[in-house]
Amino acid sequence: MKIIYIDLDGVVADFEKGRKNHPLSSITPYIGRPDKLPGVYEDLEPIPDAIASVNILLNHKDFDVYFLSTAPWDNPEAWMHKRLWVAKYFNEKLIRKRLILSHHKHLLIGDYLIDDRRFNGASEFKGEWLHFGSENFRNWGEILNYLKIKT
Ligand SMILES: [Mg+2]
Repeated sequence: MKIIYIDLDGVVADFEKGRKNHPLSSITPYIGRPDKLPGVYEDLEPIPDAIASVNILLNHKDFDVYFLSTAPWDNPEAWMHKRLWVAKYFNEKLIRKRLILSHHKHLLIGDYLIDDRRFNGASEFKGEWLHFGSENFRNWGEILNYLKIKT
Protein backbone atom coordinates (compact mmCIF):
# COMPACT_ATOMS: atom_id res chain seq x y z
CA MET A 1 0.00 0.00 0.00
CA LYS A 2 1.13 3.52 -0.79
CA ILE A 3 0.79 6.04 2.00
CA ILE A 4 -0.79 9.24 0.76
CA TYR A 5 -1.21 12.47 2.70
CA ILE A 6 -3.81 15.01 1.67
CA ASP A 7 -3.73 18.65 2.71
CA LEU A 8 -7.05 20.32 3.52
CA ASP A 9 -7.08 24.05 2.70
CA GLY A 10 -6.85 24.72 -1.02
CA VAL A 11 -6.96 21.00 -1.81
CA VAL A 12 -10.11 19.62 -0.18
CA ALA A 13 -11.58 22.67 1.60
CA ASP A 14 -12.08 26.00 -0.16
CA PHE A 15 -10.38 28.31 2.33
CA GLU A 16 -10.06 31.15 -0.17
CA LYS A 17 -13.80 31.30 -0.69
CA GLY A 18 -14.43 31.07 3.05
CA ARG A 19 -12.00 33.91 3.68
CA LYS A 20 -13.63 36.15 1.08
CA ASN A 21 -17.12 35.50 2.42
CA HIS A 22 -16.20 36.01 6.07
CA PRO A 23 -17.73 39.24 7.49
CA LEU A 24 -14.51 40.23 9.29
CA SER A 25 -12.08 39.46 6.47
CA SER A 26 -11.28 43.08 5.66
CA ILE A 27 -11.03 44.29 9.26
CA THR A 28 -7.91 44.66 11.44
CA PRO A 29 -6.33 42.37 12.74
CA TYR A 30 -7.54 39.88 10.15
CA ILE A 31 -6.21 41.63 7.06
CA GLY A 32 -3.28 39.47 6.02
CA ARG A 33 -4.08 36.96 8.77
CA PRO A 34 -7.19 35.20 7.48
CA ASP A 35 -6.16 32.10 9.43
CA LYS A 36 -7.17 33.96 12.59
CA LEU A 37 -10.72 34.72 11.43
CA PRO A 38 -13.20 33.40 14.03
CA GLY A 39 -14.84 30.20 12.85
CA VAL A 40 -13.40 30.47 9.35
CA TYR A 41 -12.46 26.76 9.21
CA GLU A 42 -15.82 25.51 10.42
CA ASP A 43 -18.03 25.95 7.38
CA LEU A 44 -15.68 25.86 4.40
CA GLU A 45 -17.12 24.56 1.16
CA PRO A 46 -15.36 21.63 -0.49
CA ILE A 47 -13.10 22.15 -3.51
CA PRO A 48 -14.77 20.84 -6.71
CA ASP A 49 -14.44 17.05 -7.12
CA ALA A 50 -12.42 16.81 -3.89
CA ILE A 51 -14.88 14.81 -1.80
CA ALA A 52 -15.56 12.25 -4.53
CA SER A 53 -11.86 11.95 -5.37
CA VAL A 54 -10.73 11.52 -1.77
CA ASN A 55 -13.45 8.92 -1.33
CA ILE A 56 -12.05 7.00 -4.27
CA LEU A 57 -8.64 7.01 -2.59
CA LEU A 58 -10.09 6.12 0.82
CA ASN A 59 -11.81 3.10 -0.70
CA HIS A 60 -8.87 2.06 -2.87
CA LYS A 61 -6.99 -1.05 -1.79
CA ASP A 62 -3.64 0.35 -2.92
CA PHE A 63 -3.74 3.49 -0.82
CA ASP A 64 -3.47 4.27 2.89
CA VAL A 65 -4.89 7.78 3.19
CA TYR A 66 -4.39 10.48 5.84
CA PHE A 67 -5.28 14.14 5.96
CA LEU A 68 -2.21 16.24 6.71
CA SER A 69 -3.01 19.85 7.41
CA THR A 70 -1.58 22.73 9.41
CA ALA A 71 -3.80 24.51 11.91
CA PRO A 72 -2.81 27.99 13.05
CA TRP A 73 -1.07 27.92 16.43
CA ASP A 74 -2.73 31.15 17.55
CA ASN A 75 -6.22 30.03 16.58
CA PRO A 76 -6.90 26.94 18.71
CA GLU A 77 -10.52 26.61 17.59
CA ALA A 78 -9.19 25.93 14.10
CA TRP A 79 -7.77 22.63 15.39
CA MET A 80 -11.22 21.58 16.52
CA HIS A 81 -12.96 22.83 13.41
CA LYS A 82 -10.66 20.85 11.13
CA ARG A 83 -11.44 17.70 13.07
CA LEU A 84 -15.18 18.42 12.79
CA TRP A 85 -14.90 19.37 9.12
CA VAL A 86 -13.50 16.03 7.98
CA ALA A 87 -16.18 14.21 9.96
CA LYS A 88 -18.86 16.34 8.31
CA TYR A 89 -17.83 15.48 4.75
CA PHE A 90 -16.48 11.94 5.01
CA ASN A 91 -17.66 8.62 6.33
CA GLU A 92 -16.46 8.37 9.91
CA LYS A 93 -15.43 4.75 9.39
CA LEU A 94 -13.03 5.75 6.62
CA ILE A 95 -11.38 8.79 8.20
CA ARG A 96 -11.47 8.12 11.94
CA LYS A 97 -8.10 9.03 13.52
CA ARG A 98 -6.70 9.87 10.09
CA LEU A 99 -6.32 13.61 10.58
CA ILE A 100 -2.78 14.81 11.26
CA LEU A 101 -2.25 18.47 12.11
CA SER A 102 1.37 19.52 11.90
CA HIS A 103 3.66 22.42 11.07
CA HIS A 104 6.33 19.88 10.05
CA LYS A 105 4.96 17.90 7.13
CA HIS A 106 8.46 16.81 6.08
CA LEU A 107 8.68 14.60 9.18
CA LEU A 108 5.87 12.33 8.00
CA ILE A 109 6.91 9.16 6.19
CA GLY A 110 4.97 8.30 3.08
CA ASP A 111 4.79 8.05 -0.70
CA TYR A 112 2.73 11.07 -1.73
CA LEU A 113 1.71 14.44 -0.35
CA ILE A 114 -1.02 16.35 -2.17
CA ASP A 115 -0.58 19.97 -1.12
CA ASP A 116 -1.20 23.35 -2.73
CA ARG A 117 1.59 25.19 -0.92
CA ARG A 118 5.24 24.55 -0.16
CA PHE A 119 5.05 25.77 3.45
CA ASN A 120 5.14 23.86 6.74
CA GLY A 121 7.50 21.27 5.33
CA ALA A 122 5.49 20.33 2.23
CA SER A 123 8.28 21.10 -0.24
CA GLU A 124 10.76 19.07 1.87
CA PHE A 125 8.49 16.03 2.07
CA LYS A 126 10.64 12.93 1.51
CA GLY A 127 8.09 11.24 -0.73
CA GLU A 128 6.63 12.82 -3.83
CA TRP A 129 4.94 16.21 -3.46
CA LEU A 130 2.03 16.52 -5.87
CA HIS A 131 1.68 20.29 -6.03
CA PHE A 132 -2.07 20.79 -6.26
CA GLY A 133 -3.02 23.79 -8.39
CA SER A 134 0.31 23.80 -10.24
CA GLU A 135 0.58 23.26 -13.99
CA ASN A 136 0.83 19.47 -13.67
CA PHE A 137 -1.90 19.09 -11.07
CA ARG A 138 -4.47 21.75 -11.81
CA ASN A 139 -7.38 19.79 -10.36
CA TRP A 140 -8.39 16.49 -8.81
CA GLY A 141 -8.85 14.85 -12.19
CA GLU A 142 -5.17 15.36 -12.96
CA ILE A 143 -4.16 14.01 -9.55
CA LEU A 144 -6.20 10.81 -9.99
CA ASN A 145 -4.90 10.47 -13.53
CA TYR A 146 -1.31 10.70 -12.30
CA LEU A 147 -2.00 8.08 -9.64
CA LYS A 148 -3.37 5.90 -12.46
CA ILE A 149 -6.81 5.68 -10.92
CA LYS A 150 -9.69 5.13 -13.29
CA THR A 151 -12.81 7.16 -12.54
MG1 LIG B 1 -3.20 24.08 1.66
